Amino acid sequence: MRNKKKVIFLLGPVIFFFLSMKAGEKDLKKRIEAVVEKITPELIEIRRDIHAHPELAFQEKRTAAKVASYLQHLGLEVRTGIAGTGVLGILRGLKKGPILAMRADMDALPITEATGLPFSSKEKTIINGQEVGLMHACGHDIHTTILLGVARVLSELKSELKGTILFIAQPAEEYGDGAAEMLKAGLFREIKPEAIFAFHVDDEARVGFIRYAPDYAAANVDGFDLMIESEGCHGSDPDACVDPIVVGAQIVLALQVMVSREIDVHDDTVITVGSFHAGTARNIIPDKAELKATIRTYGESQRLAVKEKVERIIQNICEAANARYNLQYHLGTPALRQDPALLKKILPIVQEAVGGPQYVIEARPSMGGEDFSYFAREIPAVMLWLGVVPEHLTRTSVHSPTFLADEKSIPIGVKTMASIFLHYQ
Ligand SMILES: [Zn+2]
Ligand SMILES: [Zn+2]
Repeated sequence: MRNKKKVIFLLGPVIFFFLSMKAGEKDLKKRIEAVVEKITPELIEIRRDIHAHPELAFQEKRTAAKVASYLQHLGLEVRTGIAGTGVLGILRGLKKGPILAMRADMDALPITEATGLPFSSKEKTIINGQEVGLMHACGHDIHTTILLGVARVLSELKSELKGTILFIAQPAEEYGDGAAEMLKAGLFREIKPEAIFAFHVDDEARVGFIRYAPDYAAANVDGFDLMIESEGCHGSDPDACVDPIVVGAQIVLALQVMVSREIDVHDDTVITVGSFHAGTARNIIPDKAELKATIRTYGESQRLAVKEKVERIIQNICEAANARYNLQYHLGTPALRQDPALLKKILPIVQEAVGGPQYVIEARPSMGGEDFSYFAREIPAVMLWLGVVPEHLTRTSVHSPTFLADEKSIPIGVKTMASIFLHYQ
């Protein structure tokens, strides 16, 4: 009897602490949701304005100015002009804690919008002498808006925020080098976060769902430009010159055979020769053939192993045919790898924020590219894929003129990211 009393006496404060912590967490969740609900109409307006005025990579002047002025109004320390148009906002919480970061990308694509939305883009540009529209067809308008929304929520709940949050709005994700340029310009020279987070809209997931890849989330984006050269000759007299079309065709097929026969089946590898140009007439063997390919892999050693194989195959096929060639191999954006410990730490917070684990789905990695990988090479990083497929569609597609992102994803993204920062420990 006495012992029992003693146990209750000892455990009492502990139980009280946990109960009050739970109550405090619940209260904080409600406060986050209340701010998100309050600011959602304003965020929708911001998103529609950014959507209506898309800007190409490294030209995001209007968007960057809007981001900087919004963050300044919230009272953040703001740096602008990092790598051209990049913006950094620093928000210091009132409690001690870690330095964390969120990144959004601001650039749009040269696509003529065909969504029929009332706030469709009417912006245009000239590419290769042709007029083409500009469109936020990759959801970067949504990412930028969410970044501002998170800054607003955390500013209002600054008394609960432990540590400092960096808000990074980067240029030129679509070119694959905006993040690298910001790092080169000294983004983290003065203040370096211990972890960084980002969203990308997910055109396969319905609004309300969040998906993530547990390890690699995006691939190495490499490729080559190959020119096969010949003297050219009459089509009826093929032994008078090297036929660059036949040589090119052999290379296209040999590369596919290489992927299937020389690469471990578990090492995902894609080679797509997406462009093959040669010739002008039926009866002329042309003097050149030009091939362009994209090459996707995961991991540094795999990308270098594939590079060696591609170079070997091209060299040997050209030599066998006595063809001159010029090969330019490009190592582009590196693969994006999640930090497993960081992902494990934040997943329960994400699940709680979106209404339960049934809304947070593990997915397969993408073979697409994402220059958030440059940040992930410097510090632990996690990218979450935010479902944006509207209820009335089965799917929508980024980089397409009809890409439609459901705006309900904005408050979901804001409360999820704000929760990560407010509950991170
Ligand atoms: Zn894109
Ligand atoms: Zn994108």
